[in-house]
Amino acid sequence: MSTSVSPLSDLRGEAFPVLTQEQLSRMRPLSKLRKVEAGEVLFEPGDSGVPFFVLLSGRMEIVQPGLYGDHLVVTHEAGKFSGEINMLSGRRSLLRGRVVEAGEFLEMNAEAMRTLISRDAELSDLFMRAFILRRVMLVNRGQGNVVLLGSRHSAQTLRLREFLTRNGYPHTYMDLDSDTGAQEMLDHFHVTTREIPVVICNNRDVLRSPSIQELAKCLGLNEHITASEVRDVAIVGAGPSGLAAAVYAASEGLDVLVIEAESPGGQAGASSKIENYLGFPMGISGQDLAGRAAAQAQKFGAQLLIANRVIQLNCDRRPYELSVDCGRVIRARTVVIASGAQYKKPQIENLARFEGQGVYYGATRMEAQLCGKDEVIVVGGANSAGQAAVYLSQTVGKVHMLVRSKGLSDTMSRYLIQRIEENPAIEVLYGTEIVSLDGGAQLERVTWRDSNSGEISTHDIRHVFIMTGASPHTEWLQGCVALDNKGFILTGRDLDPVLHEYHWPLQRPPQMLETSLPGVFAVGDVRSGNVKRVASAVGEGSIAIYLVHRALAEM
Ligand SMILES: Cc1cc2nc3c(=O)[nH]c(=O)nc-3n(C[C@H](O)[C@H](O)[C@H](O)COP(=O)(O)OP(=O)(O)OC[C@H]3O[C@@H](n4cnc5c(N)ncnc54)[C@H](O)[C@@H]3O)c2cc1C
Repeated sequence: MSTSVSPLSDLRGEAFPVLTQEQLSRMRPLSKLRKVEAGEVLFEPGDSGVPFFVLLSGRMEIVQPGLYGDHLVVTHEAGKFSGEINMLSGRRSLLRGRVVEAGEFLEMNAEAMRTLISRDAELSDLFMRAFILRRVMLVNRGQGNVVLLGSRHSAQTLRLREFLTRNGYPHTYMDLDSDTGAQEMLDHFHVTTREIPVVICNNRDVLRSPSIQELAKCLGLNEHITASEVRDVAIVGAGPSGLAAAVYAASEGLDVLVIEAESPGGQAGASSKIENYLGFPMGISGQDLAGRAAAQAQKFGAQLLIANRVIQLNCDRRPYELSVDCGRVIRARTVVIASGAQYKKPQIENLARFEGQGVYYGATRMEAQLCGKDEVIVVGGANSAGQAAVYLSQTVGKVHMLVRSKGLSDTMSRYLIQRIEENPAIEVLYGTEIVSLDGGAQLERVTWRDSNSGEISTHDIRHVFIMTGASPHTEWLQGCVALDNKGFILTGRDLDPVLHEYHWPLQRPPQMLETSLPGVFAVGDVRSGNVKRVASAVGEGSIAIYLVHRALAEM
């Protein structure tokens, strides 16, 4: 998460506000009074179920214990309060809270805080803003309990950085290519090149080349989630459509669990700047949008299981069962499928070898930094390719946009076409396709063919952004619901011709957004006929919850 509102130094007052006596009196009925002594440690990094503390008197330091000693994050005095977004979501604390001057604190657990937030609009705004800004500050300063040592030439390093960044998880990154001290330290511990990246988690556990699942486990990102209860609704995917469904479901009192294979944000999370989403005239990065939406869903009590992929929907069982790759089975009365789509990978030899080492599927600030002033290639002629080309052209040496057809896609927004045409740093090559990629550990050369002239040429370009259309994430449904001929999920009236093949059991026809299984809905890019836009994904996710209520009422 980052903020484009104003410099962080200007926002300190909002991140650490002083509560008035009147506001404190509204908190008292939900809190208990606690006398504290100097030196008392109220919470440690890694503790779960940490309560919030409001200081009536005394002083408290929030520190981040590090490998090289403690960093003071902030000192709270009377009228201020401890807490951060993790505590609201039930995740482990990142920091230590230590009393430095005896006094009286109000103590409030997460449940009571959620009750307060739902009842008191003024305090809800005040806490939400403070918690989000505090997290932004931690992220910007790299203050967290994770150190990642990696190389910019390692695909796994990129994946872990992406995972931490997209989850808004504060961390310190040490680049082994430029930080010789870090390399010496790894040599000292006999860490081989194959074991890079290394993650030091909670300043304690050393993980060698971990998967995102292993990292999430070490950080305890999912340990507060129980699999035993039957949920009102399980949402598969935390892209814009799944997050919208989560916000509406949780705010309307449903017990909701979102299961996300990677990190919140989906495809939108790979977008540097979304400029056509209502309400953001200056544009918003996909990561910011997703970070805010995830915080909003959790504020209302939605739970997010991340780095967990649903591998099967057991559609013969009621309640429905979702098998997750970690071995959990989630049971839910209704299901919202929001699993979206992913980029199609063009048939280029060596493509997989260079993924994350010169070949990228998203164009955000992180990838732009990796490119520096180098020339880059963007492959594709639709909206996402246009957006990536325009964004990258602001920082890289030159953008070669390779478009297989004779023109930009009919679906590309007019504002993007105009910006591309007027941008001297972007050269569009129509009728052109990559034929091979070469290099050592990192991509070094790209060869492309111009189908107009038949000419084949090789260029010393080290960065290729693939933005070539999407295919749906429906493989895990294994015949449970009706799909169209491209694998997207059929819903509502589109099911009419095939419904009899799927033994629809009810008198009424499927509702809009309902699949061939009663109480199972599909929203966003995974749905056949969906307009592939953030706004439509968000709209469908919200509408689906209205329909979920109707389905629950039938049960
Ligand atoms: C680079 C880029 C730029 C874009 N720019 C814009 C723009 O400017 N404006 C605009 O309107 N649209 C834009 N789009 C399109 C927009 O992002 C998508 O339409 C939108 O993200 C679709 O949302 P969704 O929630 O339906 O699916 P997705 O965003 O695809 O999210 C699906 C989520 O489900 C998860 N998932 C998949 N399978 C499983 C499983 N089995 N178990 C658990 N989780 C699973 C995925 O990891 C993913 O997080 C852009 C897309 C890209 C890629």
